[in-house]
Amino acid sequence: MTESTSRTEQPVRVRIAPSPTGDPHVGTAYIGLINFLYAQQHGGKFVLRIEDTDRARFVATSEQMIFDALRWLGLEWDEGPDVGGPFGPYRQSERAEIYREHAEMLLENSTAYRCFCTPEELEAARRQQIAAKLPPRYPGTCRNLSAAEIEAKLAAGVPYTIRMKVPAEGSTSFRDELRGAITFEHRNVDDQVLMKSDGFPTYHLANVVDDHLMQISDVIRAEEWISSTPKHVLLYKFFGWDAPRFWHMPLLRNVDKSKISKRKNPVSLVYYRQAGFLPEAMLNFLGLMGGGMPAEINNATEKFTLAEMLEHFDIKNIRLGGPVFDLTKLRWLNGEYLRAMTPEQFYAALRSTVLSDATLSRIAALVQTRVETLGEFGNLTHFFFADDVMPAPEVFLPKKRTLEETLDFAGEQLAVLEATEWTHAALEPALKQLGDSKGWSVKENFMLLRAIVTGSTMSPPLIESMIVFGKARTLDRMRRFLEAQKRK
Ligand code: GLU
Repeated sequence: MTESTSRTEQPVRVRIAPSPTGDPHVGTAYIGLINFLYAQQHGGKFVLRIEDTDRARFVATSEQMIFDALRWLGLEWDEGPDVGGPFGPYRQSERAEIYREHAEMLLENSTAYRCFCTPEELEAARRQQIAAKLPPRYPGTCRNLSAAEIEAKLAAGVPYTIRMKVPAEGSTSFRDELRGAITFEHRNVDDQVLMKSDGFPTYHLANVVDDHLMQISDVIRAEEWISSTPKHVLLYKFFGWDAPRFWHMPLLRNVDKSKISKRKNPVSLVYYRQAGFLPEAMLNFLGLMGGGMPAEINNATEKFTLAEMLEHFDIKNIRLGGPVFDLTKLRWLNGEYLRAMTPEQFYAALRSTVLSDATLSRIAALVQTRVETLGEFGNLTHFFFADDVMPAPEVFLPKKRTLEETLDFAGEQLAVLEATEWTHAALEPALKQLGDSKGWSVKENFMLLRAIVTGSTMSPPLIESMIVFGKARTLDRMRRFLEAQKRK
């Protein structure tokens, strides 16, 4: 092929680029599925890139959880940090030098500039703009510093960021394959920071540089990135590169149509796996979102396999109205898959998930010293196997506390548990510290949590039980408890 190869002839290469900031999200699976199908249908490659440049939000265990969740669903990638590939490394933290060089290129061709403003100055400017009811934007202080001013600041060791120089006038347009032309006026596009003062790139720079160097033909991502796209398109131009095609998928919604959130729906794929949802049902459910399957199939049956999706799914069918992530529907679909199993398959499914040898032996170890007959096993452990346990006020309400303060405290417990590493060494002091700071005794504190997690005033050791039950399911149980109390 010659240099004149146009974009449409370029081999299809797509990617998902999750940030390892916590549990893998159902939205990642949704976008992953669409990218996977698109790659397979076009004989292309599906790349997994880990966008881990935001060190403040980085969670060390997250990357492995992303790998595990995508593999559980059967969305295997052709190139990625663990499997390698010709365009690696596929982890952005290992590409720092590449971003530095590219930021340098933009400084040299004057499409970017060094910004020496301090965080305090930026904050003051932001406040003023908000007070004046203006959208907060970089005021341009460092856009036109003279070479001498820049030299002096560099010599004095003043820290700086690198910002892109968005043209003052005019507009940038791009084509979204589902929406048609989208235009942003430059006066509404901020001089985005490309390199932070810690030497790490921002999402925008790293994403564009990598999509180009990894020869990505089609960027298929969530619509929340549409407002970033004009910045990206400008960056492609600044570098003198062709931009890929853009497809922005509708955001998944809660039943009330708000953007999907963990307050209203579990969003962690770890939760769905541990709670006994089947990967086939989850993929099928995600495939229904937005209507990528032909209407005849959707109308005849809402049940289809990945193989059927490969055959019939068409990204161009995706409708833009926010698809609703309706848990009732997912549960129904999951039930359909369970009922379609042979008894042997059903038993095997139980034994590989909620009744696996690994889980049962951990639970057995927790109750061995607490039963007098083996028949009592279930009395102490039913909460591990139940989908929910909803304790009555007699069970969860401490004697000297009102309902309101108890629910407030339970909300605090939830926040602490969300933020704490799921180990005994981390959980116990975190909970105790919360109790101390709010004047709740250890007994009140742990009894409340025990009631919420186990539904009972008696249980095997609480923290050990929570560890076996898992973070995702424990948090879900707490959220459901708080939600149910709120509705009363
Ligand atoms: N790192 C971004 C994310 O977490 C990637 C967005 C994109 O696909 O460009 O979703």
